[in-house]
Amino acid sequence: MYDNQSEKYKKQYGELKPIDIHKYMLIIGAKEVEEIKRLASLLQDKTWCHVNSTFDGGGVAEMLKSVVPIAKGLGIKCKWFSIEGSENFYSITKRFHNIIQGLDQQFTIEDLLETYLETNKKNFINQRIVADMTIVHDPQPCASIVHGNYEGKMIWRCHIDTSEANEMIWNFLLPYINNYDGSIFSQRSFVKKGIKKPVYQIAPAIDPLSVKNRQRSEKEGYDTLSGFWSKYKIDPDRPIILAVSRYDVHKNQETIIQSFKKLKKDKIIRDLKPILIIVGNSATDDPEGIEMYRKIQAVADNDPDVYTLLNIENNDECIGALMKVAKLFVHISTKEGFGLVVTEALWQGTPVIGSDIGGIKLQVINGKTGYLVNPHNIHSIVTFMKYLLINADEREKLGYNAVEYVRENFLITTLVKKYLILMRFLLGIDYPYFTI
Ligand code: UDP
Repeated sequence: MYDNQSEKYKKQYGELKPIDIHKYMLIIGAKEVEEIKRLASLLQDKTWCHVNSTFDGGGVAEMLKSVVPIAKGLGIKCKWFSIEGSENFYSITKRFHNIIQGLDQQFTIEDLLETYLETNKKNFINQRIVADMTIVHDPQPCASIVHGNYEGKMIWRCHIDTSEANEMIWNFLLPYINNYDGSIFSQRSFVKKGIKKPVYQIAPAIDPLSVKNRQRSEKEGYDTLSGFWSKYKIDPDRPIILAVSRYDVHKNQETIIQSFKKLKKDKIIRDLKPILIIVGNSATDDPEGIEMYRKIQAVADNDPDVYTLLNIENNDECIGALMKVAKLFVHISTKEGFGLVVTEALWQGTPVIGSDIGGIKLQVINGKTGYLVNPHNIHSIVTFMKYLLINADEREKLGYNAVEYVRENFLITTLVKKYLILMRFLLGIDYPYFTI
């Protein structure tokens, strides 16, 4: 295990320097900035740690890259640790992830005892984490509450939908979860029964000042992408339908391609010549990514209008720009804890066709910020793709609403604010208003 202040981290990812909360003033307003400062005032020099399983790739790492600097800027000692494990450990925890989300996967006793628990133990052989509050993210390091080495208040933060988790794995994790002082879920309906400690609700969020999420004009977006267009031989004048996510079975990229292929058969659409761009990466804690990418390429089957891209260069700048210039964004996962990509696209003012499940439902408000569909209903996906492609006014209206909806609900400043309220509660300073 190592942390963001170690040389190893700095060499690979650079430094997470403190960010001044006043930088968000123009986006969230002075009143909100003052409220966050007030909440942080009694937490000066307190220690707040995070533990997860990757510094790179996926939504958790994305958020921590902003949460840690903002907390530091507010005068809190904030540190981020990531556990390390073998390929086998990540393969097992990926199966945990899948089985919690309802897929049928197998484990052996050795997987659980020798690999999962041993990895949680080994990471703490030379490490003790002493903090006023430590947030442990997701199942990978969950058992470290018992097998690790901590001092201080401990919270388990679950980013996935556990509502239909397999009983065996849930019963395996429950004693660990119940050892924490409490847990956080993105929404009430994700909580499977059996948790005996307080449960808090905090939605994930995006950083509006990050390279990816800073708001840009369409022209700036197109200009940023000039190298991208030539590298992938893409004609930027053609309307873009965009999807961005890890290559993962639950992200359902296969149905996006099938829907697009069907959409192209429509006479009106044929004249518009849209293209589908699917951008994906593979998180270091996700061993199935490359295999899934090959499968998706096979589904695309060399269709000249479908671009399936992996680990693009200048990732953050290009993703933000693509989200700005795309006519619409599609995210039709079959399971989704939240779906930060949806927030990111909405924040760039691009309407989203999203599946009617999990955290996507919190963000895609039917007819207001986009359209909700059943993730397997190709007919309705195609219908909304067509409707949005040919209706510029509707796109503009939904895009405007989308930006305001994200501003109200899903910016990183709101996330930090809720964590501060929780920390004050855990330290006996005052009470949270978001218990569920
Ligand atoms: N992402 C990225 N490049 C890619 C694919 C995804 O930067 O090629 C980012 C994406 O912009 C988002 C995060 O990875 O910030 C994925 O978070 P999300 O909550 O959507 O899904 P998760 O991977 O956590 O299931």
